[in-house]
Amino acid sequence: MINKQWHLVSRPSGEATVDNFKLVETPVPDPEGGQVLVRNHYLSLDPYMRGRMNDMKSYALPQPLNAVMQGGTAGEVVASKNPAFGVGDKVVAFGGWQQFQLVDASHLAMLRKVDTRQVPLSAYLGAVGMPGVTAWVGLNTIIEPRAGETVLVSAASGAVGAVVGQLAKAKGCRAVGIAGGAEKCRVVVEEFGFDACLDYKLHADVKSLSKALREACPKGIDGNFENVGGKVLDAVMLNMNAFSRMAMCGMISGYNGEPIPLAAPQLILVNRMKVQGFIVSEHMQHWPAALQELGGLVAAGKLKYRESVAPDIESAPEAFLGMLKGKNFGKQLVKLI
Ligand code: NDP
Repeated sequence: MINKQWHLVSRPSGEATVDNFKLVETPVPDPEGGQVLVRNHYLSLDPYMRGRMNDMKSYALPQPLNAVMQGGTAGEVVASKNPAFGVGDKVVAFGGWQQFQLVDASHLAMLRKVDTRQVPLSAYLGAVGMPGVTAWVGLNTIIEPRAGETVLVSAASGAVGAVVGQLAKAKGCRAVGIAGGAEKCRVVVEEFGFDACLDYKLHADVKSLSKALREACPKGIDGNFENVGGKVLDAVMLNMNAFSRMAMCGMISGYNGEPIPLAAPQLILVNRMKVQGFIVSEHMQHWPAALQELGGLVAAGKLKYRESVAPDIESAPEAFLGMLKGKNFGKQLVKLI
C-alpha cells in the first residue's frame, strides 16, 4: 500500500503557492515492537501553518524543508503492536499532511483516543479540538466576560470565531461578529446565534467599519477576540470601552507579510485596556476542562459549527491557500479516506 504525503519543498516569499509543496508517495510501513499504525481520516488545515512555512523566529519552530508538512489529524488505528491501542480505536494526533502515520511507542502520548458516539470524528479537529480550546482559553482567561457585556470577534464564521461568539452568548453577553461576505454573516447570526455580524468587505475604510460597529455595539466593546489585525482591528480599537480586554489570538491579514500597523495604539492607554497575546498550546492546564465543556455542548447540539471539507489528499495545498483568503466556511479539513 502507498502513503501519499505532502512535503514543503520551498519557502514562500510573500504569498504561498502550490509550488511550495510536493506530493510524495512512500510505502505504508508495518508496525513493529510497540508501534501503532494510524490511517488518517481528516487533516486539519490551520492558519498557523502559513507562519511555519517561513524560516523566521516565532513562537514555533519552522516547518522543515523536504519533510512531511506538520498538522493535526483524526483517524483510526489500523494495525497495532502495542497493548494500549487496538485496531478500530479512533484517535486524534499530530499526524501531518499524509494518509498514514506510524507512531513509535515512545510517542504514544501524541495519540489521544476519542469517543465518536456523540461527537463526530471531524469535530475533534474543530469545535472540540484545538480551535475550540483556543476560543475557550482566550475568552475565559483573557477577556473574562461578564453577563451584559459586549464581546466582539473577527473571522467570526471560522473554526475559532464561531465558538467564541457562542460561548460569549451562553454567558449572557452581546456577541457581535465580523466576517467576509453576506452569507457568512447570515450564518453567524441565524445559525450560530450571534446578535449581529458585520461584513467588513462592505466597508472601504476604517471610518466606515467603525461607524457600523458603533451601531452594532451601542454600549461599546468590552471584550475583543482578535483574529485578523490590520484595518479590522483599527476599527475595533475605536469602539473599545474603558477597562476593556483584548485576546490577541491571530493576525491573519498579515500572514503573507503585508504590513499591518496599528493606527492608534494610544487608545490602549486612554481606555486602560488589557491586551494579551496567547498561544493555546501553552495553556495545556485548561485543555481537559475546555474539551469536556465543548464536547458536551456539541453532543447536546448547543454548539454549532461549519466545516469546509476538501475531497482528497491531492487537494490539500489548494484548500490551505484558499483558507488563508477566506474561501473556507468554518473549519477547513481535508478528507483523507
Ligand atoms: P478560520 O476558519 O477563521 O479561517 C481563516 C479566516 O480568516 C478566513 O476564512 C477569512 O474569513 C479570514 N481572513 C483571512 N484573511 C483576512 C483578512 N485580510 N481580513 C479579514 N479576515 C481575513 O481560521 P481559524 O478559526 O482556524 O483561525 C482564526 C485565527 O485564530 C487565525 O488568525 C489563527 O492564526 C488564529 N489562531 C490562533 C491560535 C493561538 O493559539 N493563538 C490557535 C488557533 C488559531 P473571512 O471570509 O471572514 O474573511
